[in-house]
Amino acid sequence: MHAIEEIIKSALEQKLLDDKSTVIGIMDYDGLEQTVTQLHDSFPPYFSHAFAVKANPLVSVLAKLRELGMLAEVASPGELELSLAAGFAPTEIIFDSPTKTWSDLETCIKHGISINMDNEQELARVDALMQKYPNSISTVGFRINPQVGAGGISSTSTATSTSKFGYALRDEGKYEYIIQLYKDRPWMTSIHTHAGSQGCALELIGEAIKSIVDLAEAINQQVGYQQITKLDIGGGLPVNFDSDEVRPTFADYVRVLHKIVPNLFSGKYHVKTEFGRAITAKNGCMITKVEYVKQSGGRQIAQTHVGVQVATRTIYLPKDWPLRVIAFDSSGNRKTSYNHVTDVGGPCCFSGDLVAKGRDLPVLESGDYLAVLDTGAYYFSAHFDYNSIPTTRVFAISKRNEVISFDCIREESTMQELVIRMGANHAVSDSAKKSPQMLWQQNETVIA
Ligand SMILES: *Cc1c(COP(=O)(O)O)cnc(C)c1O
Repeated sequence: MHAIEEIIKSALEQKLLDDKSTVIGIMDYDGLEQTVTQLHDSFPPYFSHAFAVKANPLVSVLAKLRELGMLAEVASPGELELSLAAGFAPTEIIFDSPTKTWSDLETCIKHGISINMDNEQELARVDALMQKYPNSISTVGFRINPQVGAGGISSTSTATSTSKFGYALRDEGKYEYIIQLYKDRPWMTSIHTHAGSQGCALELIGEAIKSIVDLAEAINQQVGYQQITKLDIGGGLPVNFDSDEVRPTFADYVRVLHKIVPNLFSGKYHVKTEFGRAITAKNGCMITKVEYVKQSGGRQIAQTHVGVQVATRTIYLPKDWPLRVIAFDSSGNRKTSYNHVTDVGGPCCFSGDLVAKGRDLPVLESGDYLAVLDTGAYYFSAHFDYNSIPTTRVFAISKRNEVISFDCIREESTMQELVIRMGANHAVSDSAKKSPQMLWQQNETVIA
């Protein structure tokens, strides 16, 4: 990621923030290139790497990652269409959802999209579809819940004994049964696990992967040839949100895996990964204007535009997802002396709408700017409609000849789109207007 000071100054020079565009998202494409290069350099060549689209579904970001050699992991028809729009071929896509419909499954099997099945009832549907499309080139296998336990954040731990995800490997009789399911279906050539994300220790993820490698070896031994040729070890590399340092690195992860699951590196398997957060989180940030500053009960309160619409997880689970907030004056110079207890509020109407609470920040004034760091995954790309605030405008940046250029990769949603999406075309009352006037949007008078 380029230095935040430089990004802010360039954004201000280009007047990217104004009275109507009050918060912007930034994706650093030079940083993305570096991250993906490190990813490829850290793993052996028989690994390929899918990007978990939910972490940042902006089409331009997906297209960039494809250009950098990644595949796509999707979990819904919407994410599938976004990936196709970004240029991924069906065979470059993995479809992982715990609740696939008949049409999801048929779309995948017909077009050669890989699927990781969640349960035996899903398998019954896939059996039927395999008869309909006997020449399907989809890679098919089960998602295993290795039941190795939870990490530090329950909402992102997927390998607990009662997790809703995958086939519960350690429940009674299940191990032998799944081996039989594979034996009966030579077209099932892959096994998947995704043990969890932020808050999970690398060792826990390693143990989960060991469960599927051991299962693969057991199946191959029992059928007498190498039926399982592919392993999909999921994503979930945690990200540190407290400094610019990238910790853990992909290389750290590979070292842990070498120790816990040496067979993963035998070269016998084609291994896929599905990282999301670790690819984009530290290559994105948000910039907002400080609209007002006041004192309340001895505390500095800054009213800004970063609220629950763009920082949903942080605002509902502030202890699990804290974000760094850096202050700049109206010319983009970094402020110092972080010694004023401050709440940074968003624009939404509930008192918990604070991106930082009781945090030491410099003395702030109206017209300052705040940068909220490490938000390239699951933030401005995962808009929440509370208070009907538009989606955040996002720019891709890259530096050429010492100059940072900004390309808009997602516009703010317009008031027209909002009104239609909220059902204006279905309003029953006579006074409801099918083409409302958009007073706010027409307003040009801004006193600076
Ligand atoms: C969310 C998810 C990922 C990516 O998780 P990150 O923590 O963002 O790396 C990968 N695979 C599956 C199946 C997922 O649900």
